[in-house]
Amino acid sequence: MLWLPVNKVGTLGMLVILVFGGILAAAPVWGQSLLPGHTALLEVPMVGVVVAGLAFAGLCGLVRCRHCRYRLFWHAVARRSHEDGITWFLTARQCPQCHASA
Ligand SMILES: [Zn+2]
Repeated sequence: MLWLPVNKVGTLGMLVILVFGGILAAAPVWGQSLLPGHTALLEVPMVGVVVAGLAFAGLCGLVRCRHCRYRLFWHAVARRSHEDGITWFLTARQCPQCHASA
């Protein structure tokens, strides 16, 4: 997983934050029995959307090829189809721009 020539620790960290933000954003689904009503329906999802948005922006802007600085996460989400973008990002072995591998 994640064979592209990028900063793996930073990329995986931001992916974990993105998933965490997504879980918080889905609080109305899982949190209503665990949290007070307005917290589950309003505050936690809002925090989740902000956290996920920042992580997504970080991934798009900061995950770059070590060799040519091409934005690889941006390529995955913007240039490839929605079905295989993330799969491609996690399994590709070569930068599509300069063909460098990790
Ligand atoms: Zn490259």
